[in-house]
Amino acid sequence: MTNLDSPSRALCATPRVSLVGAGPGDPELLTVKALKCLQRAEVVLTDDLVDARVLACLPAGARVLRVGKRGGCVSTEQRFIHELMIREAQAGARVVRLKGGDPFVFGRGGEEVDALREAGIEVEVINGLSAGLAAPAAVGVPVTDRRCTPGVAFVTGHNGEHGIAPDWAALARSRLTLVVYMGLARAAGISRALQDGGLSGETPAVIVSAAHTPHQRECFTTLAGLPEAIEREGLASPALLVIGEVVALSPTWRDQVGLDVGMNGSLSAAQAGVMTTRELPARAAAA
Ligand code: SAH
Repeated sequence: MTNLDSPSRALCATPRVSLVGAGPGDPELLTVKALKCLQRAEVVLTDDLVDARVLACLPAGARVLRVGKRGGCVSTEQRFIHELMIREAQAGARVVRLKGGDPFVFGRGGEEVDALREAGIEVEVINGLSAGLAAPAAVGVPVTDRRCTPGVAFVTGHNGEHGIAPDWAALARSRLTLVVYMGLARAAGISRALQDGGLSGETPAVIVSAAHTPHQRECFTTLAGLPEAIEREGLASPALLVIGEVVALSPTWRDQVGLDVGMNGSLSAAQAGVMTTRELPARAAAA
């Protein structure tokens, strides 16, 4: 039994913060460890991305502080979050910092751990299921299927002011499956950069919006078709772009396109078209 398994308040003598991954949405995708930690929380600093159903797992008396900052990451806001966590932990509260997906995957978890440790606060990190793994699986895409790819790259489509931009040309040559976080608004530029780097515009792609929530939507298309598909379908954030031959291994792709892509990716754009899962019943009825 670890200290955290004990309800004893005395064990909180050393100020401590738990950095917890909330997963992509569905509370059933929380880890057991995350759920136990949430059920003992007294103060919770939560991001916008955390699903309301996950927050419903908190004890009735827990204080929930919403510290989301969708779109822009202004450093003073981040500093404010650090200060708040430190203050609450030093006051003796069981503090949980709750983040969508995994706290260390595009979640600024590393910066928060540094700030807490510098302030003498103990930090526990509890992984969550990152959207980059959960969203492809939600639409039947096996991200590292060895018949198509040597692996997967998780990259940001929005590196922000202080981030490092992905080398799209290198990624285009890598044959890796590409999972692009925060790429919706920049999909046209990303699509162009990958094609300029030599990746075929016919490479299968899928946009998955709000995976594992009641609002999940997906749209299968090609690398070249991404911008038009996003616009036409009105897909909204949070959404991931998944690009690579593995996308064509999804049963949905197979059902809709009605053909298997060659394992080396020989699908014509005309064959691929653009389709959405929501169109499936209509297509099935017409068949
Ligand atoms: N730490 C999170 C990522 C935070 S960055 C994780 O590990 O999942 C925010 C981006 O994550 C969004 O812009 C979107 O690209 C992606 N994202 C988060 N939740 C998502 C979901 N339920 N469905 C699709 N994409 C999601």
